[in-house]
Amino acid sequence: MRILLIEDEKELAEALTAALGKYGIVTDHTAHLGDAAELTRQNPYDAILLDRRLPDGEGLRFIPELRRTGKDTPIIVLTALNEPKERVEGLDLGADDYLGKPFLVEELMARLRAVLRRPANLAELKITAGRMVIDPLHLSVTVDDAPLDLPRRELLVLVALAKRKEKTVLRATLEAAVYNYEEEIQSNALDAHISRLRRRLAEAGAEVSIHNIRGVGYLLREE
Ligand code: CA
Repeated sequence: MRILLIEDEKELAEALTAALGKYGIVTDHTAHLGDAAELTRQNPYDAILLDRRLPDGEGLRFIPELRRTGKDTPIIVLTALNEPKERVEGLDLGADDYLGKPFLVEELMARLRAVLRRPANLAELKITAGRMVIDPLHLSVTVDDAPLDLPRRELLVLVALAKRKEKTVLRATLEAAVYNYEEEIQSNALDAHISRLRRRLAEAGAEVSIHNIRGVGYLLREE
């Protein structure tokens, strides 16, 4: 899962990025609404976390701007402005949820899962491929009901491939699922993840194969 965090408190942003990373979430971070608009044009996000008091204005004004571009990405407002009237403002402007600071990462995760469970986002819920069932929200994989432990980046590659199984997924899309935009990506890193993932899936009897479409990307096929 890849999310956009719009937050100007640097320390909070770093701590949150690290904490969400433990749940397998790739976080792009910016402190500016202007950059956020550009990032949402460039990247498909599963959710957006939005602060209110930002250097270039009130965070809430980003919500109608984003909706006007036709995107219904779930937005959770994270803010110290947590009076009842302020929460009503946020929800009425189209936020999907509103969480006052300070908060526990566990509660944020539960609220993220809750907004992603809503019917409009349900396609994301569980993916079956071969003998696997993949749960992108809890980042878990089972093969015939037995849990399969995968390193985080391999798991993220698998989710991205399984979401579009039988279709070619571009290298750039796979890299975007695994790395945030600040990370350096070694040119063969993706291929190395794929080759380890192939081996683990074969050992687990997942009955899927991952095909290399030279120079374009990869494709996951059920056997
Ligand atoms: Ca702020």
